[in-house]
Amino acid sequence: MQTAAKAHPAAAIDWDGLDALKYADEDAAVAALLKEPPLDAAARASVAAEARALVKRARALKHRKGVMESFLEEYGLSTAEGLALMCLAEALLRVPDEETVDKLIAEKISSGRWGEHLGKSDHWLVNAGTWGLMLTGGIVKLPEEIRDASQFLASLTRRMGEQAIRLAVNQAMVILGRQFVLGRTIEAAMKRGASMQRGGAASRFSFDMLGEGARTTADAERYLASYANAVDVVGRASEGQGPHASSGVSVKLSALHPRYEARQEERVFAELYPRVLQLAEAARKWNIGLTVDAEEADRLVLSLKLFERLALAPSLSDWEGLGLAVQAYQKRTRALIERLAILARRRGAPIQVRLVKGAYWDGEIKRAQIMGRPDFPVFTTKAATDVHYLACARDLIAARGAIFPQFATHNAHTVAAVRRMAQTAGLDAYEFQRLHGMGEALYAALDPPLPVRVYAPVGGHEDLLPYLVRRLLENGANTSFVHSFLDEDVAPEVVAADPLVALEATPRRHPRLPPPPQLYGASRRNSTGRDLSIASDRDAIASAASKLQMPKVSAVPPTQAIPTALSAFKDWDLRGGAVRGAILRAMADALQAKEDELVALIAKEAGRNLQDSIDEVREAVDFCRYYAAEAERLFSGPQTLPSPAGETDHLELHGRGVFVCISPWNFPLAIFTGQIAAALAAGNTVVAKPAEQTPCIAEAAVSLFYAAGLPQDVLQLVQGDGKVGGELVADPRIAGVAFTGSTEVARLINRTLAAKDGPIVPLIAETGGLNGLFVDTTALKEQVVDDVLISAFNSAGQRCSSLRVLFLPHDTADEVLETLLGAMDELVIGDPTDPRTDIGPIIDAEAKANLDKHIARMRKEARLLKQIDVSKLGGNFFGPAVIELNSLDQIEKEVFGPILHVVRYDPAKVAEVGAALAAKGYGLTLGVHSRLDSFAEQVRAVVPAGNCYVNRTIVGAVVGVQPFGGSGLSGTGPKAGGPNYLPRFAEERAVSVNIAAQGGDPHLLNL
Ligand SMILES: Cc1cc2nc3c(=O)[nH]c(=O)nc-3n(C[C@H](O)[C@H](O)[C@H](O)COP(=O)(O)OP(=O)(O)OC[C@H]3O[C@@H](n4cnc5c(N)ncnc54)[C@H](O)[C@@H]3O)c2cc1C
Repeated sequence: MQTAAKAHPAAAIDWDGLDALKYADEDAAVAALLKEPPLDAAARASVAAEARALVKRARALKHRKGVMESFLEEYGLSTAEGLALMCLAEALLRVPDEETVDKLIAEKISSGRWGEHLGKSDHWLVNAGTWGLMLTGGIVKLPEEIRDASQFLASLTRRMGEQAIRLAVNQAMVILGRQFVLGRTIEAAMKRGASMQRGGAASRFSFDMLGEGARTTADAERYLASYANAVDVVGRASEGQGPHASSGVSVKLSALHPRYEARQEERVFAELYPRVLQLAEAARKWNIGLTVDAEEADRLVLSLKLFERLALAPSLSDWEGLGLAVQAYQKRTRALIERLAILARRRGAPIQVRLVKGAYWDGEIKRAQIMGRPDFPVFTTKAATDVHYLACARDLIAARGAIFPQFATHNAHTVAAVRRMAQTAGLDAYEFQRLHGMGEALYAALDPPLPVRVYAPVGGHEDLLPYLVRRLLENGANTSFVHSFLDEDVAPEVVAADPLVALEATPRRHPRLPPPPQLYGASRRNSTGRDLSIASDRDAIASAASKLQMPKVSAVPPTQAIPTALSAFKDWDLRGGAVRGAILRAMADALQAKEDELVALIAKEAGRNLQDSIDEVREAVDFCRYYAAEAERLFSGPQTLPSPAGETDHLELHGRGVFVCISPWNFPLAIFTGQIAAALAAGNTVVAKPAEQTPCIAEAAVSLFYAAGLPQDVLQLVQGDGKVGGELVADPRIAGVAFTGSTEVARLINRTLAAKDGPIVPLIAETGGLNGLFVDTTALKEQVVDDVLISAFNSAGQRCSSLRVLFLPHDTADEVLETLLGAMDELVIGDPTDPRTDIGPIIDAEAKANLDKHIARMRKEARLLKQIDVSKLGGNFFGPAVIELNSLDQIEKEVFGPILHVVRYDPAKVAEVGAALAAKGYGLTLGVHSRLDSFAEQVRAVVPAGNCYVNRTIVGAVVGVQPFGGSGLSGTGPKAGGPNYLPRFAEERAVSVNIAAQGGDPHLLNL
């Protein structure tokens, strides 16, 4: 097998260079677009007129209106009904049991919220009427008096019975699904396609075998087989007409490999490349088109490297059917097209480039915010995307000969503009494309007509869901063209408006989508983090790692640290919140500036993988900025209280004295820095004792505190083990303890504090959890598996928030487990400083021995479903394991490592199962995966948890967003990173002054 290195000769095109533009400044990008607009003034006027005419002609062709378009006219996503119907469409078809189906329908359709949102509006009647018709195929006519959904459903139930309703709603979803899917099998799709061709609704197809995002090798092999079959069936029918005239196939690379990620480049070349080459060679044999679909922005460069290798493969050299989709909503697409043209010329045969706007816009926005990217990889206004599309179209047209352009859109203005640009350039060799179920009326209205290729998904409803939801989201949005295209209430001038006009009027990024660093507004800047999908970011960390010098470990004894900190206390407290906040903000900036070095240090000393280490630095930065803002809010001056005449009353917050901060090795920077920052912000001086396993990270953090302007006496670092911690806690001079670690040690500290005479001081403890995740039958298996893998195994399960017990319903447990166990085989366990690594080692031999002991016991008492073999790695590596318990009684406490316990449960008894978990006494994190709000509420009602997460991972709490900490055996509260944290570190002083004693109350006299 060839390696990636061999695939990249020295003169290879610089695909990685595109990443320099990934987060380009949007305002500058828009200014550049407007400087060279894709259409001149004359062209703009005629395109606008043609676009309006197109809309009018399409509206006149009522019979060509698709079900989707009718549906969207009634149910936009800005309405509660539209959202509810989307939820149903996403979940209903996969639910195996009737009881849950009924609950889901009842919750989504008949919930009181429908009435609340729409009340008695005529709009609802129209909606209900349409829905009723869809539900029942026109059998039931809605009576006039029905005013809201619950009545509507009640009435339907009376007439039809529950089973009939269930069937009807199911049927409606099947109808909706069918609208987008051409057939269950490629043969069925070809048959239906042929009749569409005869009726003029399509000239040719690009068939897409539904399914994306393989989680296991078995998934990938299944998808590969179905793509290979499709290529053969489509090829055989093509009769040698060549790729432009005959139908072809589109392929999603994420379906062909479970780890199609930039970090796994070598593996992708070794394992995925041969699969896609196999498909391409088969397509070449038949001389049909094979197009690689565009997916998430983080995968773009990797897909281009693969594509280049395909393009230059000797076995594909003269084939003109090789194609790639590119997304105009990404800011780097013009630079990409330039490189594709170079590639095609180097290859000596043209390539097909399908220009789309892009289907993952909301996902890109969310991911950039969560990951702390410097900006979004996509434009934030629809007008910018539309104009950029036209600029990209102009580039593609200019690259004629090298590129065969394929314009995929359902937007009348876009179609009219592209057509005009092609005409002006005298280009005939291009085509338009539309999605099956959309845009039929638009293309039917083109005069003179042009051939249009229809992108046609093929498959069963099981695989339809992600695609369907993307379509509903895309088309249900107010900004979507299709949403209002055929709506007579929206004037053609509005629907087909020239996007340049809007962009010229507002040539700026969307005002309500600030870049990720500004997510939290003016009070604090969000932290940013390296993007591991970018090679230069990975290189920067590698370079920092290669130069890393481990800081020297200091040796200040407790007997020296405590008096030093004590002597500094008064002055520090007097400085007030604003001054202390400024130092904390400087600390945040210092941490951010040292991100690479700190990431390398955390990975090396604590064994955390690079992404965890990046997240950890970000968390430390966030803590500093959050507590700085809190210090300014709470400690900048006395709070005035209501008082009687002749008196002033104030409440002041002050530091308590010397706080001892004892932090764990599992978040050696974030928790260490967070505790200190909070104690300092509240006016305390600090003696900090980090875990003995991670002294260097603590040294680095303390040096940064000092460099940020913190007087050295104010923060004293004491290194050592539990004994040293014990000494600090026992000292009568300390004013409080912040501790994060095990429940056992927290108890010890508590006893030590209680045993002392003198002042009773606070203990703020954050301890462990026996964290559960409850899944029901409405949950999406792939999402469950992704989130379970991260929650249970990230950081080698060494987070207090990590998932310990997964509760699966009997009906779907086997399916979920099969995918989960398969996906575990794809995890990379190894050197944490290697970007490919998902899971690093266990912190030390003692901790590993405890895990081994637990596994040995479970082998006997329960069922070990799987443990990844890591014997080759040696050291403190521990293979992630899944254990099926017979009963929850088999575990009592947290086992701190990558061991997931599974319990199967009967959904009817979820309250009992939840109560059994609650009875263990912990209350830290809790997860629910369900599309039923009522299920999540039911679980939350019985299982106490400081942090509950629905339909996501249960780890990774964000400062100020998910304040973190539990109750019961899991901690004392208040929550770190929350609004109630700092006051616990403070002392309150009320000051009451009798101003009448000085002569009177001026306020009273001046009323
Ligand atoms: C044949 C075909 C193949 C396709 N293949 C792919 C593919 O491989 N990969 C892929 O990602 N998509 C693919 N798509 C989907 C495609 O991205 C969408 O259908 C397309 O974006 C819709 O554009 P439009 O011109 O029809 O609609 P319009 O309504 O004019 O545009 C909608 C698009 O605008 C963008 N948008 C909306 N709001 C904003 C905003 N505030 N800021 C910035 N942009 C915004 C979104 O990308 C949205 O998709 C394909 C579509 C077709 C027709």
